[in-house]
Amino acid sequence: MLAHLDADCFYVSAERVRHPHLRGMPIGVLGNHGACIIAKSYEMKAAGVSTGMPIWEARPICPQGVYVKRDFQWYEMLSRKMLGIVQEWSPCIEFYSIDEFFFTTQDTTLAAAEHWQSDMQRRVGVPVSIGIAPTKTLAKLISDSSKPFGCGVLHDEAGRRQLLRAKPVTEITGIAARSAAKLAAQGITTCEQFADADRAFIRWLLTKRGEDLWWELNGTPVQPVLSKRPDHKFISRGGSIGSASADPARVQAFVVRNTERLVEALNYYKVMCDFLTLSLLFTDRPEQGERVHLLGSTADYEEILQAALWLLPRVWQPATSQVHYMHVIAGGLRRQRQLSLFGEPSSRAARVAETKRHINQKLGRFAVRSALTLPLADVHLDPANDYDICDIYGKSCF
Ligand SMILES: [Mg+2]
Repeated sequence: MLAHLDADCFYVSAERVRHPHLRGMPIGVLGNHGACIIAKSYEMKAAGVSTGMPIWEARPICPQGVYVKRDFQWYEMLSRKMLGIVQEWSPCIEFYSIDEFFFTTQDTTLAAAEHWQSDMQRRVGVPVSIGIAPTKTLAKLISDSSKPFGCGVLHDEAGRRQLLRAKPVTEITGIAARSAAKLAAQGITTCEQFADADRAFIRWLLTKRGEDLWWELNGTPVQPVLSKRPDHKFISRGGSIGSASADPARVQAFVVRNTERLVEALNYYKVMCDFLTLSLLFTDRPEQGERVHLLGSTADYEEILQAALWLLPRVWQPATSQVHYMHVIAGGLRRQRQLSLFGEPSSRAARVAETKRHINQKLGRFAVRSALTLPLADVHLDPANDYDICDIYGKSCF
């Protein structure tokens, strides 16, 4: 059997671990630019605040709320602590996300789940919900529907029926809006209808991924617990650039900063890339992206930066629109070859990159950075920006 453990409003709970006086209060956690709610407590949700809402909309709805800025370094520390505890319970664990774990278990009693829950509460201080079932999809549905601070075990057919009944298909991980619309057109809106539908029909409608979910909902496990991270197909760095900007120097500076983060990730995973994509999102028109093939596989900062800067005017002309989001994406990944037989980087550029890496390891990320990022003095002054959720390394989900 499989268990799924999921922290309840994790970022908020993490803030409450170090600031216990926040318990019971409506709490909103803000993104790194302080503009949007990225997580909220149940109290704030009850007031009508939703995730993604800008703070200027949230405050009139929930004026008594406390708004705190996110701190991924702290959340990661707690996540690793949680992981250490789950490792005591099971030899086979999938780190599904910063606050979610799947693990195999022999003990499938409700008492076991409740014991794990209180163990986690006592040792980390984070409330979690736990579901136990024969498949990952069912286990996650149970933990989701047991929230907050609940546990559930799927024992029999009657329990499975009850779990799926009247639950919208969008509750299934892997069924997003597009698949849900396809299903709705066929009169399938609940998990129970999905599980009762003809298997071949679901495969025709939603391909093999849909069929896998059909098996999982019917109690046959087809999704394994991934205790090792599968190889990346691509690596991306980017995100919001704070307030939208049409300033060419600032947008370019973000491209450079995200390229620095991307190269750092390539080196961490010891991979090179064959092509690079730059994608920009605008406030007033659809996303625009372009891809370029690099001159051979590379993880070289200068080469990748030149490619990114070459792409920028091809996806955006400064006078046209405001940029608010971007992705720099490395694709066609392959293992880095050893730089030389003696471990010394050969070219001057490689030695400069190596020296830069050493200094930044010693003195902190971005201690040495491109002069092209000078327009981001405000970003670099705020230590919250040194750390982003995708920069968490060494966990299989990242
Ligand atoms: Mg959670």
